[in-house]
Amino acid sequence: MQSRPRVVVAGSGIAGSLITSGLADRDDIDLICLERVGAHEHMDAGTGLNVGPNALKALAAVMPERAQTIIANSLPWERWTISLTDGRVLMDLPLDTVADNPGIRIRWAELYALLRQPIDSRIRFGAELKQCGRGEDGLFVTYTDRADGSENRIDGIDLLIGGDGRYSQVRDHFFGAEAPNFLGVCLYRVLFPAGDNCPIQDYGQWFNGSNRLLAFRVPGDFVYCAGSFPIGADGIIPDAMKQPASLRLAYMPADGKPSPQAAYLIDAIQRYSDRIHWARLQDGTVRYNGAPGVLAVGDSAHPMVPTLGQGATQAVEDACVVVDEIRWALDNGVGLDGVAARVEARRRERVQFVVDFSREATDTMLAGSDPVQGTLKKLQPAFQTRLTTLYRDVPVPRA
Ligand SMILES: Cc1cc2nc3c(=O)[nH]c(=O)nc-3n(C[C@H](O)[C@H](O)[C@H](O)COP(=O)(O)OP(=O)(O)OC[C@H]3O[C@@H](n4cnc5c(N)ncnc54)[C@H](O)[C@@H]3O)c2cc1C
Repeated sequence: MQSRPRVVVAGSGIAGSLITSGLADRDDIDLICLERVGAHEHMDAGTGLNVGPNALKALAAVMPERAQTIIANSLPWERWTISLTDGRVLMDLPLDTVADNPGIRIRWAELYALLRQPIDSRIRFGAELKQCGRGEDGLFVTYTDRADGSENRIDGIDLLIGGDGRYSQVRDHFFGAEAPNFLGVCLYRVLFPAGDNCPIQDYGQWFNGSNRLLAFRVPGDFVYCAGSFPIGADGIIPDAMKQPASLRLAYMPADGKPSPQAAYLIDAIQRYSDRIHWARLQDGTVRYNGAPGVLAVGDSAHPMVPTLGQGATQAVEDACVVVDEIRWALDNGVGLDGVAARVEARRRERVQFVVDFSREATDTMLAGSDPVQGTLKKLQPAFQTRLTTLYRDVPVPRA
């Protein structure tokens, strides 16, 4: 019979790695983290992301050393510009007017490596969760060890944390599978070497009608570009739209004279079209809790559209609250069975706000939208106040 509560974290992505980090020094729990990829494989290694100022602010309060390492290995996100591909600037927002600190720009591979490196020995890599459920001995999971093909089982779990991402088995099994809500927009991503005289620096967006390019520099002298265009109600991305010539046409202004930044990006997506990762904008309902001893976090708890760069950002906020709640429960001799409900109570309202705000901010990317009017609305106090709430009102640790 085990004497210490057993905590199993499924997935060492953003949320799972940070939760494992924040609890790694606790010898009063039996902590196990299962990750399906190998130690040196990185999911989505070919892309980049911007993480919001709110993630760094929340992380600095709960795991300051993690925040420092991430900041030291990334570029600051300090400005947000929105223009048309013909060069007309619609918005130029210094983030310090709406946030207490900068966000960051980084490559996925680098972020995953930074998050996993300090807990390398705590993660069971190549361990793919196959089943989870409730048996005679409480909660259990089974997993396949990809190194030797063996099937393994862990019983007697006191807290199972589903950090296994957007297609979470933990969420599907315990809370019920749910069809995603597609927004009718294709979003693709590509990372490429910046090259000489690269005009792309901090976070910018360039519209041609509802077709949008988003780009910024990331460390290592790379540019990350995420392009989008509306698609039909069937959610299918037409093959014709994936062709380099179609992509060029989608962003070329009517007068055929793109700004230097737009021209650079249009050339790059044509040149690197074979490296593109294709996806569709989708979101779903918020759900952390719903079965005793089971907690969903990150994309598993709240699939959202990446329009405001909040998916990974909210996974960081989640991790901060989860670590805070588990530390508090252990320090006060309180069982872990109430952790999921307490996390849900602290997170639901804020995360619902972020999911809704992200969906609404997608207005300028929908078919038939007007990016000029839509961006002017983003300059108004109503939008800026919500942005301030987003970036500043982060969860604070228990006293
Ligand atoms: C096109 C696009 C652009 C985006 N851009 C941004 C951005 O700029 N900024 C931002 O903040 N967010 C962005 N996001 C969102 C971001 O990718 C996610 O919100 C974030 O990665 C969620 O973190 P997570 O910890 O919940 O899950 P993940 O980081 O997805 O981690 C899940 C982990 O679980 C593991 N796993 C899955 N299944 C199993 C299993 N069965 N067994 C064991 N392990 C398993 C996976 O290997 C992975 O390591 C973007 C998303 C998309 C699609």
